[in-house]
Amino acid sequence: MNLTPWKWNFIWKLLLPPRVLHFLWVLLHNRLLTNVGRAARGMTTDLTCGRCMAGQEDEDHVFRTCSSSSRIWEDISTSVTKSASYNSEWESWLFENLKCTFLIGGRIPSYLLFVVTLWFIWKWRCEKVFDVNFTIPPSPGKIVMQYVESWLDANAKLEDSYPKKSCMLSWTAPPPGWVKLNVDGSRISDSGFIAAGGIIRNERKSWLVGFALNKGSGDVIEAELWGIFEGLNLAWKAGFRKVEVESDSMYAVRLLSNDTPLNHPLFNIISDCKTILQREWTCTLRHTFKECNRTADSLAKLGHLLHLGMSVFEDPPAQISAVMEEDSRGLASSRIIPSL
Ligand SMILES: [Zn+2]
Repeated sequence: MNLTPWKWNFIWKLLLPPRVLHFLWVLLHNRLLTNVGRAARGMTTDLTCGRCMAGQEDEDHVFRTCSSSSRIWEDISTSVTKSASYNSEWESWLFENLKCTFLIGGRIPSYLLFVVTLWFIWKWRCEKVFDVNFTIPPSPGKIVMQYVESWLDANAKLEDSYPKKSCMLSWTAPPPGWVKLNVDGSRISDSGFIAAGGIIRNERKSWLVGFALNKGSGDVIEAELWGIFEGLNLAWKAGFRKVEVESDSMYAVRLLSNDTPLNHPLFNIISDCKTILQREWTCTLRHTFKECNRTADSLAKLGHLLHLGMSVFEDPPAQISAVMEEDSRGLASSRIIPSL
């Protein structure tokens, strides 16, 4: 069992466009198919960089040392000088730049510009691989900057366009004939240990079955996906065929609602979840707020204290009875949300 916490876990807190965050995640898991990466997987024997023809194409080369990339960094470095620094090792260079929250022009977090630049470098690199005649646009810095600014504008517009309101949120029972599965993942940041938990209740708010899973170490998103997977499995085995699934991880719900690239670091668990969702039953998966998912959260936290693997509970464990009782009473917590 690998006990080292994933040192990049802070990336989940960064403000990044979803596809750029996904790219970063793949990069940090060493899953990008550079020529060195492809050779390691037996897909090629030619390690040469297809852009400069003068080096082995590993990640450091693609993003930093390739002459084609240094030209892009130079074009951008008018605003971000730190990104162009070549004095550190590849990983510390990444780390430093990802941790850099300085606001360029008082508005753009420098890590955002940094990651979007990495993303464009990779995008242009791939275009070059598929089309030898492709050339990088004459002002790459401008293009990257425009992308970042329009994404920030769109985000700000979205935020402003909905008037906010304070809302009372509580867990709600499923409609008659349905059961509701609430699932959650948990991660202890010091140790990197992950756990998950879930609960199935009926329309009368009664406990049907619950579980907690101690899963060793991993990413928080892995914990969320394992929670969904084991919860679905449990619901299927228990014979429920009309199931509402709620997770408070927007990212996990999105991963399961969209196509999954083959090189996705969590491809297997995502596919396993999708396979169960597509069985012969009526099963809906949606995002819910943390305030409506508190019992599942308590079970996930309980998972850390139990033996490795699954613990299934036919009756509610004592540690969660208080929070479950609050759910049943409809205890609500307030949250500021956009009023749609
Ligand atoms: Zn090169």
